Amino acid sequence: MLETAFAALGTTNHVSIDAFTDRIAAGEALMRARERVLFLHDRLSVFQPESELSLLNASAGCASVPVGNDAFFLLRESKRYSALSGGAFSITTRALSALWEIHARCGTVPSRAEVEHALLLVNDEDVALDDDAQTAELRRFGQSVDLGAIAKGYAADEVRRILIEGGVTGALINLGGTVSVIGEGKHVGIQHPDRMTGIPMGRVLLSDGCAVTSGDYERYYEVDGTRYHHILDPRTGYPSRSDLRSVTLIGESALALDALSTAVFVLGAEQGLPLIQQAGCEAVFVTKNLDVFCTEGLRGNFELL
Ligand code: ADP
Ligand code: MG
Repeated sequence: MLETAFAALGTTNHVSIDAFTDRIAAGEALMRARERVLFLHDRLSVFQPESELSLLNASAGCASVPVGNDAFFLLRESKRYSALSGGAFSITTRALSALWEIHARCGTVPSRAEVEHALLLVNDEDVALDDDAQTAELRRFGQSVDLGAIAKGYAADEVRRILIEGGVTGALINLGGTVSVIGEGKHVGIQHPDRMTGIPMGRVLLSDGCAVTSGDYERYYEVDGTRYHHILDPRTGYPSRSDLRSVTLIGESALALDALSTAVFVLGAEQGLPLIQQAGCEAVFVTKNLDVFCTEGLRGNFELL
C-alpha cells in the first residue's frame, strides 16, 4: 500500500494506492498528484491573498485579470452549473459567505439588511470571461467569487487522472469527503449528520467512480438553537433550508458531482431530482427526519447501517 495525507483546499486529503502495474511509477504518480493538489490550492484558494482568485476578487468592478488554465476552466464550468441550477449554485456567494463568517466568529446572526446588501452582489452572470485573452472580470465593485463548492471535485478528478497515467489500477482518493475510487469496489460511508465524523448511516459500494456529499453538518454554528451552516441559498441569502440534511451524489466526474451536490442540497430532493437525472448520476438523500432514500440505480449497492 502506498499512501499520503496532507492539508490543502481547506481540508485533509488522503490518497491510498493498493494496486499498480509498477511500484516506482505508482509512487511517483502519487507525489505528482499531491503536488498538483497543492498547486491548485495556491492558485484557487480565496484565503491565499496572492492566489489568482484573490486577485480577481480584488479587481472586481475595476479590471479584468489574467487567470491560468485551471481557474479559467473552473470559472467557465461554474457559470454553466449556475445556469443549469437556476442559480442555486452560485460562486458569487463569496461576499455573502464572508458576512456569515464574520458573524459565525462573533456567535451572532447578520441583520436582514446586511444579508440583503450582500445578496445584491450574487449573480454568476457577472463573471465575465474572455476566451481569447484568457482573462476574467467581476462586473460589479464589491463582488467576489469562491470555488469552494467545486474545486475539491476538480482536484479529485485530477488526482485520479494522474494516478491512472502512472499505471495505478486500485486507489481510494478522499479529499475531505470528496471520494474517487480507481478499480475494484470499495465501501464509501454516508456520514450520520448528528454523529462524530466517521460514523456512517449507510454505505455505498463504489467501483471506478466518485461520491461527493454536501451536508449541513460539515461546517456550522448555532445561535439560540438554530443551526447556521455554510451552504447558502442564493435566493434568500440565508443558509439553505430544504428538506435535506445531506445529499451524496455518485457518478463519474467528481467536478460535476461537487457542483451538483451543492445545488441539489440548496434546491431540496424534489427540485433537485431533475438535475440528478439530467446528469445521469445517482443519489443518496438524508432528510430532516433522518430518513434515507436513494435513486433506483443504487439499489443493491447501497446498504443502511
Ligand atoms: P464542502 O466544501 O463542505 O464539501 P460544498 O461543496 O457544498 O461543501 O461547498 C460549500 C462551499 O461553497 C462553502 O463553504 C462556500 O465557500 C461555497 N458556497 C456556499 N454556498 C454556495 C452556493 N449556493 N453555490 C456555490 N458555492 C457556495
Ligand atoms: Mg460542492
